Formats: sequence, C-alpha cells, structure tokens
Amino acid sequence: MKPLSLRARLTLWYAGVLVAILAVVSALSYSVLRWSLLQQVDASLAAVAQIVRETDERGAGGSEVERAIRELLGPGFSDQFFQFLDPEGRSRFRSGSPHPGSLPLSLEARLNAAHGRQTIETLEDPANGPLRVLTVPVQRAGRSVEIIQVAAPLARTRSALSRYLTTLLALVPVAVGLAAAGGAVIAGRALQPVREMSRAARQITAEDLGRRLARRGADDEIDHLADTLNAMLAGLEAAFAQSRRFSADAAHELRTPLTALKGEMEVALRAARSPEEYRRVLASSLEEVEHLIHLAEDLLIFSRSAPGLRAPTAPVDLEPLLLEALETGARRAQSAGVTMRADTFEPATVLGEAGALRRAVLNLVDNAIKYTPAGGKVELSLVTGNGQALITVRDTGIGIETGAAARIFEPFVRLDAARGRDKGGTGLGLALVRAIVTAHGGTVEVEGAPGAGSRFTIRLPLAPPK
Ligand code: ADP
Repeated sequence: MKPLSLRARLTLWYAGVLVAILAVVSALSYSVLRWSLLQQVDASLAAVAQIVRETDERGAGGSEVERAIRELLGPGFSDQFFQFLDPEGRSRFRSGSPHPGSLPLSLEARLNAAHGRQTIETLEDPANGPLRVLTVPVQRAGRSVEIIQVAAPLARTRSALSRYLTTLLALVPVAVGLAAAGGAVIAGRALQPVREMSRAARQITAEDLGRRLARRGADDEIDHLADTLNAMLAGLEAAFAQSRRFSADAAHELRTPLTALKGEMEVALRAARSPEEYRRVLASSLEEVEHLIHLAEDLLIFSRSAPGLRAPTAPVDLEPLLLEALETGARRAQSAGVTMRADTFEPATVLGEAGALRRAVLNLVDNAIKYTPAGGKVELSLVTGNGQALITVRDTGIGIETGAAARIFEPFVRLDAARGRDKGGTGLGLALVRAIVTAHGGTVEVEGAPGAGSRFTIRLPLAPPK
C-alpha cells in the first residue's frame, strides 16, 4: 500500500488528537451536568421534607398538611409527593395526585430509619418511572415514631441528560470534520516552503551549480534543509570545478608533446633529409611518444583509482609491503647511482588495499631516486606511534622550493628544478599518493629545502587490535 502523504498524516493526527480531547471533555461535562441536576433534585427534596415535618409537627392532619404544603410551595411542588409511614413501614397517609400508589420503602431505607439515619436513593418504579426518594425518620424522645418519605420523578432530568448527549453526539463529529478540514489547510500551508524548495532545487542543474537555495531566516527545519542542500551544492560545485580543471590540465599536458611532435615532423618533411637526420627526428619523436604513453597511463591510473577509492577494510601488513618497495627501489637506484637503504622497520598493520598502498610508497621511492643526483642516498623507514603507522622516504636530492610543499600534491604540478632533471615526469604521481592516503584516512606531507633533500611522511591509522 502506498504510504500516506505527509499532509494527510498530519491531518489524521490532528483529527485523532481532537477526537480524543473532545471525547474526554464531553464525558466530563456530561457527568458534571448529571451530578449537578441530581444535586438540585436532592436539595429540593430535603427542603420539602423539612417543611412536611414542620407542618406535621404543628399538629395538622394528613390532608391538611398536604394543602398547607401545596400552598406554601406553589407550583414548585406540583410533581413531588410524600407519605407518612409508621416505624414498621406501613403507610399512614400519602399525598394525592399525581402518585397513585404508595411509595416503595427499600430495606436499606427502613434499616437506616431504624437507626435514625436519612436515606436518599433512586428507585425504578414500574408505575411511575425513575424516582428520587428521600426517607427521613422522625424521632421523639430518642424513639422513632414516624417515617416521612418525599419523592420526585427523575424523568425530566433523564430526558434533559439524553438531549444533552444527543447534542454532543451530533456536534462532536461536526467539530472534528471542521477541524480536520482546517488542519488540512494548515498542513498544506506549512508544507508550502518545502514544495517551493524542491521546485527551486529542481531548477538547479549541473550548468548552474553556483546557485543556492534561499533561506527564510527563521532558522527552522526548512532553513536547516536549505543549509544542508546548499552545502551539498557547494561540494558538488567544487568537485565539478576540480574535474573541469583536471580535464583542462590534462588536455594541455597532452597538447604540448603533440605540438612538439607535429613541429618536428613538419620540419623534417619540408625538404629531403639524409637518413641520419630522419633517424634523429624519429628518435626524438619516439621520446615524445613515450612521454605521451606514460602520461596516458598515469591518467588512466589516476582517473580509475583516485575517485573510486573507497574506505578499504582488509588488514594490510605494511612491513613486507615496504620491503618489496625497497627491493624494487634498490634496482632502480643502482642504475641511477643512488644508494638505497632501510632505516627502522617496525611491524604495523593498517586497514586498506595493499595494491594501492604499494603504488603510493613506490611513487615516493621513485621520486626520491629521480630527484636525487648520483652519489646521493635514499632511506625508507616504518615506525608506529600514537595509533599511527609512519612511513618515511628521505632523500639527499634537490629538495623542495620554499612554499611549494603544498602545491606539489596537486595534479600536473612540476617544480622548475625538477623539469631540468627529468623530462618524463607527468606531475600525477604525488596527486595519486595523496588520493590513496586520504582514502585510507591518513595524511601525507613533505619537508625539505632547496638543495637539502626532502622527506615525505605518510601517516596511516593503525588497524584496531583484535
Ligand atoms: P613527477 O612525475 O613530475 O615526478 P609528481 O607528482 O610525482 O610528478 O611530483 C610533482 C613534483 O614534485 C615533481 O615534479 C617535483 O618538482 C616535486 N618532487 C616530487 N618528489 C620530489 C623529491 N623527492 N625531491 C624533490 N622534488 C620532488
């Protein structure tokens, strides 16, 4: 089943809560009304009983009493009646109409009367409907001599109550219906800003990621949603700008060697050349092509690995990985006339992807060898501390220009000092190192001064001990 819309759910909740409130209020008001109506009847019965007793005490006979009382009370007494009973409950006198029979005397009332106590009770009289009956014992010199009963029919009270109940039953659904309609309108209005925001968000495309959703300034949920979406847009915009810059830089990097290649070929074709000259042009072209292949490979590796790197979870033992890099590095160092050696190697395990980590370390080792003149030294070390593994690659090479330390990790950045030494570099090696290390939750940094060698440090969080 399709889930209900937010608006429908809000309205339902609203109406449900209102039904509950109205039910409680109606039940309370009904019982208060019932109580106060009975209270009124009881009070008037007590007053009549008092008068009956006083009139009787003055010595008037049964029907005299009745006439006197009817005169005294007027129409207010018209539907009430009374009777005198002896202490055993036998009727001595009862008032005339409207009551045709005698009033019933319940066992409880008779027992109470014997103990000199009054009783007020509701009786269902088959002939007269519901009756409220007050039974009062009359005592003289501590002896019960007579019982007076005063009664009033409850039919009118009952019908007033049932009219009230009918009114409630008719009005509550109307009130709930009206409130639900109002609630639906209010919920619709409250959700209006959300609709507006989604319309505005839909209009923002990849072409105008610079646009932002407007805040209303209320600092409410809607504003927080706008902030969240805006932060997401800012992130997307930055990522888009970065990828555009990367493509532009890559195109530029490809164009330079291709232009050089084209130039050399055009010059060679302009006139007839000797075989040596053709060979020279071809050899130089081959160099450019090799650089292009190298660049294309690096681009492929970078575009495949950099954005796709996920937080990896397999434990990777760093020591054998570094020994491997040391071995590979040593072979390359030997042909470059550079000494390669290992410093401290401590066992360390991190969570990650072994292949990517190996590539990062090898890139650093390769650079160290590449930018260190013959006779220099490259040192590799692995230590642990503060829950981190520290991989250091130190060389005695050309060092890093002041202020360039942060820049060299950007794609395609090559420092002037390096260009002189190495034509083959693509400027992607360190960018890849940074991407790999960041994906492993680590950092990479470099220290160094021109001519004083450089030291690259990778910090990776250690795997939690099992
Ligand atoms: P490249 O292919 O040019 O080596 P990298 O991204 O690996 O590209 O390095 C970027 C630049 O950082 C290099 O061109 C060089 O200027 C500098 N660099 C990298 N490693 C070293 C190092 N060990 N010593 C001095 N400079 C370095």
